[in-house]
Amino acid sequence: MRKFLYKILVTGGAGFIGSEFVRHSVSRGLEVIVLDKLTYAGDLERLKGVKGKYKFYQVDICAKKQINYILAKERPRILVNFAAETHVDRSIKNASAFIKANIEGVHVLLEASLKHKVKKFIQISTDEVYGEIKEGKFTEQSPLKPNSPYAASKAAADLFIGSYIRTHGLPAIIIRPCNNYGPWQYPEKLIPLAVLKILRKEKIPVYAAGKNIREWLYVEDCIKGVLRIIEKGKTGEIYNLGSQQERQNIEVVKFLLHILKKRQDLIAFVKDRPGHDLRYSLDSSKVFKETGWKAKLNFKDGLRVTVEWFVGHRDWLLSKR
Ligand code: NAD
Repeated sequence: MRKFLYKILVTGGAGFIGSEFVRHSVSRGLEVIVLDKLTYAGDLERLKGVKGKYKFYQVDICAKKQINYILAKERPRILVNFAAETHVDRSIKNASAFIKANIEGVHVLLEASLKHKVKKFIQISTDEVYGEIKEGKFTEQSPLKPNSPYAASKAAADLFIGSYIRTHGLPAIIIRPCNNYGPWQYPEKLIPLAVLKILRKEKIPVYAAGKNIREWLYVEDCIKGVLRIIEKGKTGEIYNLGSQQERQNIEVVKFLLHILKKRQDLIAFVKDRPGHDLRYSLDSSKVFKETGWKAKLNFKDGLRVTVEWFVGHRDWLLSKR
């Protein structure tokens, strides 16, 4: 009989980053339970490579009864929460789903984790909770000043988790990664959207003059960081997970056009996103000091691998929009 290292419950495991985490965890010999509502952003196709090697429940993290039933039945040692509404533009149009999934859903998971004595609760937060920074870097002590409804919902969840750590002694860790990119990302985010537009020979929308700066982390590096924090991180702590690879949006799009050998006049500058943060930048020295994790792939190599993957999975990409 197969012997597992430990049992881990992954919420949002059919999403972009969650599925990368599931694929790696399965190959590391963990017993993986995936829980996902399968919103427009969730897709089990991402897990076809590990089919039969994980258990799946289609559930909303807000469904208290079902969540408690699953935790009582499965008794996972670790719960990693990737489940969330994640697109800033959608949160600007209507924040309701964000409040539900990202705050109420997290509350349900916190209560259930306490009740069923989960040994480690890992929340995947975001660098966006800090707001923008024109110079310097955010540390884990920087104040939370979220600017979009998405970021505000994630910050609210972090505050809730902090209160459960302090008040109820919940063994939780908050991880704040910067912008992820890589295979299987849904084409509403900058990189897969731009690739999709290029493949369709359509104009690529870029907000304002494209000067907004993001720190870009290859998704495999990100989940290796998450796994390292699960193994070596301290409960009650927050860890930034950055790559030190900052790029302006316009540079990213120009590089994509260069990789795909297309002309720069495919770029269409559009009206800026309301409240658009100019720059995010993380100080990730804590995670390196405490766990030895550092992002490996540089942005240009990561982008080449990503584009190659999307071209090879053109049908999947084009089926999404
Ligand atoms: P995604 O949108 O690709 O996937 C989210 C997944 O959660 C989907 O499978 C969806 O079906 C599921 N989901 C949504 N609401 C749910 C609910 N109520 N109950 C159960 N499942 C639900 O997102 P992603 O890009 O993979 O992001 C994963 C996590 O990482 C999120 O918490 C996000 O805030 C965080 N994060 C993402 C980035 C990034 O660049 N993508 C950066 C930092 C942090």
